[in-house]
Amino acid sequence: MERQRMELSNWGNYPKTIAEVYFPNSIEEARAVVLEQERLIARGNGRCYGDAALGHQVISTLRLKRILNFDTQNGIVWVEAGVLLADLLEVIVPHGWFFHVTPGTRYITAGGAVACDVHGKNHPHKGCFSNWVIDFDLLCADGSVVRCSRQENSNLFWQTCGGMGWTGVILSVRFQLMRISSVFLQQRAVKANNLEDLLKAFEANRSWPYAVAWVDGLARGLQLGRGVLWLAEHQTATTPKPLAFPTRRTLDLPVYAPNFLLHPSLIWAHNQWYYARATNGEQRVDLEQCFYPLDRVHHWNRLYGRRGFVQYQFGLPEEHSLQGFRLVLEQVHSSGMAPFLCVIKRHGDRPQEAIHSFPERGYSLALDFPRTPGVPALVRQLDELVWKWGGKVYLAKDACSAPHMSRIFPDRFAPNKFWSLLRERIQPSERC
Ligand SMILES: Cc1cc2nc3c(=O)[nH]c(=O)nc-3n(C[C@H](O)[C@H](O)[C@H](O)COP(=O)(O)OP(=O)(O)OC[C@H]3O[C@@H](n4cnc5c(N)ncnc54)[C@H](O)[C@@H]3O)c2cc1C
Repeated sequence: MERQRMELSNWGNYPKTIAEVYFPNSIEEARAVVLEQERLIARGNGRCYGDAALGHQVISTLRLKRILNFDTQNGIVWVEAGVLLADLLEVIVPHGWFFHVTPGTRYITAGGAVACDVHGKNHPHKGCFSNWVIDFDLLCADGSVVRCSRQENSNLFWQTCGGMGWTGVILSVRFQLMRISSVFLQQRAVKANNLEDLLKAFEANRSWPYAVAWVDGLARGLQLGRGVLWLAEHQTATTPKPLAFPTRRTLDLPVYAPNFLLHPSLIWAHNQWYYARATNGEQRVDLEQCFYPLDRVHHWNRLYGRRGFVQYQFGLPEEHSLQGFRLVLEQVHSSGMAPFLCVIKRHGDRPQEAIHSFPERGYSLALDFPRTPGVPALVRQLDELVWKWGGKVYLAKDACSAPHMSRIFPDRFAPNKFWSLLRERIQPSERC
């Protein structure tokens, strides 16, 4: 089995650590690593942003990448945990299947999708990824492999969905796909002059299956929170044709951009241009354009320079979202820091048993900040506002929030074997 000592970071390029990384090719090799190491953490494709998939000892699932079974009639797929959604799309779309729930990148593994219980732009309609999981096999601290589903080992099932890898190593996942007859979607843009209008537009368009809003994070005064709501629904093919996942040439950012590139004045200019260019109206887009626009540029995270960036994604209850988002944006403005990507999503109810899933009824706002020295202090100020309004942060994005902010408590996870930098940062007994 290959083993490498290497510098590791996740998508935000912050923090960085030196880790011993093991690349098992089989369950037996994975078991040997788990039994040998006192502490370790599973890692998929490192597409979380902060410190979740980092540790001093890391077990990578990227070599566990076989599609074990694909029932093309019923749309049930069983894959090893290291299979990328990107690779799976090439196989399932030609048979007329897509994911019920997908995040904004297809370069994540099936194991990572379960461990963060990822959500998409359709949470009120389809819930989180776990909603569609039938079962998974989990490699536990004692080396045993346990099948977990809603019926079998259900406690472990729900502890693991959104459990950030703290229950064990997910080895394989079986989940249900969604029928599609076309790779196209109808997309509608709705421009909104301010935050209140934007949230009203979400409400008025609740019946659209997909909804996500770009927000101008620098707009102030009467235009605070102005943005564009993007809605989408799948098209039905009138003449069924063989389907193929549409891919375009991707660009690559081969080197880190200089730090001045995302200067607030340039972000301001970008936002002016983006908002002015957007018009209300409809157009036809394909799966890649609708769900994975950011995947068009490989390594776009290098745009933030070597210093990396921090994404602050938090959710607020529906009744406090407008007021809370306003206060957060005002706090950001008074800090002088400029968020580049700002995105709002609407969320539906969290099933009671999905104890670690991030989305709850209401809205979430994600803000990307180049990692300047003032960011940790700003994050703590935002934490206070979010907490006061009954909100929480998403651990898949978190890099420096206060330990209680996710409302997930790692000391309630039985084995201390599965250990990440995130867990070290937020587990009370481990902090000095
Ligand atoms: C451009 C972009 C857009 C995104 N959009 C969204 C979005 O819309 N919605 C959303 O929810 N998320 C989103 N994310 C976050 C991303 O989907 C999640 O963090 C996802 O979990 C990353 O999967 P991964 O395979 O890269 O896992 P990693 O980043 O490697 O790991 C993430 C966590 O899962 C654990 N883990 C990974 N594999 C296993 C395993 N086999 N067994 C046990 N634990 C494991 C790790 O320990 C870690 O805690 C986005 C990320 C990017 C870069």
